[in-house]
Amino acid sequence: MDSNSHLKNKISRRDAIKFGSFTAAMATLSAAIAPRHTVAQTLTDPDMDSEENEIPKVSVIKHKTIDDIMRIDPNMERFDQFNTAFNKCMLDGFNMIRLKADDNTDLRHTFASLGSETTESEVKKPGHTDIDLAFDAGAGGVESFTGSGMSRQCSNESGPSIPMPDGSLLPLSLYKQHGSNPNEFKKSPHEYKFETPEDASYAIKKAAKLYGADLVGIAPFEERWLYKTEVHVPMDLDGNPIESHVNPFRKVQFDFKPKSVIVLAFEMDYEAYKVQPSAIGAAATTMGYSQMMETSVRMAHMIRRLGYNTVHAGNAVGISVPLAIQAGLGESSRMGLLVTEEYGPRVRLAKVYTDLEIALDEPKTFGVKEFCEICQKCADSCPSKAISKSDKTTDPDNLPMNDCNGLGVDKWYNDHQKCLSFWGVNKGECGVCISVCPYNKIDMWHHDAAKVITKIPGLRRMARSFDEVFGYGKAGSEKLMKSYWKRRI
Ligand code: SF4
Ligand code: SF4
Repeated sequence: MDSNSHLKNKISRRDAIKFGSFTAAMATLSAAIAPRHTVAQTLTDPDMDSEENEIPKVSVIKHKTIDDIMRIDPNMERFDQFNTAFNKCMLDGFNMIRLKADDNTDLRHTFASLGSETTESEVKKPGHTDIDLAFDAGAGGVESFTGSGMSRQCSNESGPSIPMPDGSLLPLSLYKQHGSNPNEFKKSPHEYKFETPEDASYAIKKAAKLYGADLVGIAPFEERWLYKTEVHVPMDLDGNPIESHVNPFRKVQFDFKPKSVIVLAFEMDYEAYKVQPSAIGAAATTMGYSQMMETSVRMAHMIRRLGYNTVHAGNAVGISVPLAIQAGLGESSRMGLLVTEEYGPRVRLAKVYTDLEIALDEPKTFGVKEFCEICQKCADSCPSKAISKSDKTTDPDNLPMNDCNGLGVDKWYNDHQKCLSFWGVNKGECGVCISVCPYNKIDMWHHDAAKVITKIPGLRRMARSFDEVFGYGKAGSEKLMKSYWKRRI
């Protein structure tokens, strides 16, 4: 799609000048806080000049399918979950050349121990003190007892399980599917009939919000976004794989024909993400994983009670980002994550596959692709240089990449092995790319302003500087990490 097709509404030159002076003036005011509507009002002043003095402003464009936004090879091969970076690292050992730290530490071991339950910090550096690690552990307090999440493989029935006398396993994970636990809530034999698919959509979204989702959209079920095979790693109660039941290449199957996928997004805490890379930021991520599990299992129980089938999943079963794009939650980005209008990339995603017929949402664009082409802030800030600075392409031969990338999609190809290598060196997760992204903003006027200028082609180059002038988009500040527990809520 030509980027000019994004140009819809108009803003006058006088307003642009007003905005330019306004920006310069505001730069001297440091991080003063004012109501967020100030900038929106400035940019949409009804007292506009004539057409000839107008410059374009971008608005949100609706599309029919994800194929209208991204080039996707019709012969694209489905991706094996085994090839996701975490599984490659945990199960395959990765490319150990990249995983050697300066002191020659085996980073596979270090990585495997991330998220362990000790609260005694090995490194004692700002952002990784004992209280910071305890904070992260607390965020996973429910998840680590009941499920999968970040430290496990997240597949159906992976995670903690109890071996039964007949050789079968009793999974404890909240991601388990119905029927795998005799005490579990069963599907009702009576199908509740919504009057229309739109009524179903309204009810499902209302419930999802109450159950804890920040954003929710509905995508059609499409086989191309399912993993070709999924990783199945049940664990004993000490966290060791039950080897007789491990299957890294289990076929993804449904015992019903899914029609819709409910895609759920969860905002991660802004203040904690501001101090990435640290265990403080990791706590926000872990909370996201907990919410993914808790909210998706609630949705699944509700829908089964209505008489329909479900499979709920965090990162398992299928790839989340294209589903979220198709469900109208946001766009893809240079760093590979979904960028939402509301929270930028600072979200985690979960999904519920179901045979309930629900009215579908439409994908939307709001200029992320065009902004990413000139921004590159995540790539410049990434400590491991894992994010591509190349032009967007479907041709991986010209790009530094590894087999953690699915092929055949028009996107930036990044080096996930390098990314996780840094996690090992850092002795904790990173998230700097999310933290520095100009779309990662909360509802304060200067954040709103930065978001608005990302939508105006002529002003995009300014957006990155604007962000930095106000002290945003910088990561790794030890001062902020040290003061995190002193700042009052
Ligand atoms: S930091 Fe810039 S280039 Fe990276 S995803 Fe965000 S907007 Fe795109
Ligand atoms: S998480 Fe950190 S190391 Fe990984 S891509 Fe983002 S910025 Fe780079």
